[in-house]
Amino acid sequence: MNTMNLHGEPEARIRNILHSFLPGKDIGSWVNGEVLQGKGESLTLTDPATSKAFAHFNDADQSVIDAAMTAARKAQREWAALTASARGRVMYEIARQIRAHAADIAELESRSAGRPIRDIRGEAVRVAEMFEYYAGWCDKLHGEVIPVPTSHLNYTRYEPVGVVVQITPWNAPLFTGGWQIAPAICAGNAVVIKPSELTPLSTLILGVLCEKGGAPRGLVNVIAGQGKTAGQAAVSHADTGLVVFVGSAIAGSAIAAAAAKNTVPCILELGGKSGNIIFADADIDRALAGAQSAIFSAAGQSCVAGSRLLIHRSIHQEFTERYAAAAERIPVGDPILEGTQIGPINNARQWGKIDEMVRQGLGEGASLVTGGGKPASLVESGGFYFSPTILDKVTPAMTIAREEVFGPVVGVTPFDDEEEAVALANGTPYGLAGAVWTQDVGRAHRVAAAVRAGTFWINGYKTINVMSPFGGFGRSGYGRSSGREALMAYTVTKSVWVETAADPAVTFGYSPDGA
Ligand code: NAD
Repeated sequence: MNTMNLHGEPEARIRNILHSFLPGKDIGSWVNGEVLQGKGESLTLTDPATSKAFAHFNDADQSVIDAAMTAARKAQREWAALTASARGRVMYEIARQIRAHAADIAELESRSAGRPIRDIRGEAVRVAEMFEYYAGWCDKLHGEVIPVPTSHLNYTRYEPVGVVVQITPWNAPLFTGGWQIAPAICAGNAVVIKPSELTPLSTLILGVLCEKGGAPRGLVNVIAGQGKTAGQAAVSHADTGLVVFVGSAIAGSAIAAAAAKNTVPCILELGGKSGNIIFADADIDRALAGAQSAIFSAAGQSCVAGSRLLIHRSIHQEFTERYAAAAERIPVGDPILEGTQIGPINNARQWGKIDEMVRQGLGEGASLVTGGGKPASLVESGGFYFSPTILDKVTPAMTIAREEVFGPVVGVTPFDDEEEAVALANGTPYGLAGAVWTQDVGRAHRVAAAVRAGTFWINGYKTINVMSPFGGFGRSGYGRSSGREALMAYTVTKSVWVETAADPAVTFGYSPDGA
């Protein structure tokens, strides 16, 4: 069966980029240094900017997962046998490869995932930085000597877990791929990563570049397949040592349950419903700009999106009016155009979910300030565009205030004092991110301490960096995915005891003098 069927002009460009990395190859899984075609169901890739199908490939079946696991196990042994400095040098070279190809990777991601090119160019470079950061850690990851109160030398070794299975969503596949692969291999592990079946291409390229950078064949395997088939098979595989999942809370809890069956640990990075708190004493112009990027960048398809705007009642009306006027000026359109700030929603299903949640919000009593559907000027494109949407009069009980939309939709709720602002921010089961805008230093730190969220910004929004730990509280997941903490999560600690006494006391059983 023909597994790749690319047509149309933008699609020809995708094919050209793909073939510059994988000459003459159809889309498949990257396993043990080659493209392996699955034998499962035929899956379709769709251009979010036009809704046209541009490629087909076959779902990875069990034989692909088995091959990836076997390759990963072998490569992991080779990789762990290298010196730490040698592993670091390979990781620097992978980073160099990513930098060298950043423009092509960014174009591929923009065209195939629908992300604005102006955002993705920077992201490609940040992925290179992730490998550089962890390259530096390779020869600094060492154990400790513990001053135990006996005659022993006791030391720890941070050993790799072995084969790590990573599952990522469609909203930022390139960024999330680097974010997960880099700490895993730094700690000496091999990776079997399954990006979303809707956006596998940039992760495939990352797999190819890891090998080009000098990683052993099979160290980074990329599975082109679905969650319920390939993802499930990888999570449940007997060789899996750790599962890292980035995605929805529903899939996350099913995956954690499947991993627990094999006593395999999990890191879960799930969704959010983050509160962005604006006090009346904030620098209002900066807060307006920050609140725009908090929810409208990446068309709101961001786990940390500031989807609940909590505004002090004294400025609520004026702030909301200015916020709406600014939202209406944001350029929405073809993601590959330089001027575009909001591209399409990634897929039709997600577009439908966003539309339905907006309607439900209105049905439950929220009022529409702006947006609420496809921009009229983009209807003919066929793309999955959704206008920046602001709902006012949102109360904490409404579905729109409790459930993640994952689109460019923000709910506005006024508050009267600091206590109420914190209570509102903490009023959902999620705890991924949040922010406060105020010029009162004491208040800023009080609120930062009181809001239950894995990442919190004061007078800013959305900045994250590979050096800093990232993860959630509550239903937003557990474990951390960057910084030193992620590195430690990718290891298992061994405690080694060495007897140093010349004549150690025998306290039980055999004694050489028979006493
Ligand atoms: P999803 O949970 O439907 O899918 C995520 C990934 O899991 C995909 O690769 C999918 O194929 C796979 N999958 C789904 N069910 C599976 C199963 N039973 N077994 C194994 N694999 C399975 O999420 P999505 O719709 O792709 O992405 C959107 C969600 O991701 C949002 O909720 C968003 O908040 C979340 N997200 C979280 C973060 C974070 O870091 N916290 C980052 C990005 C996205």
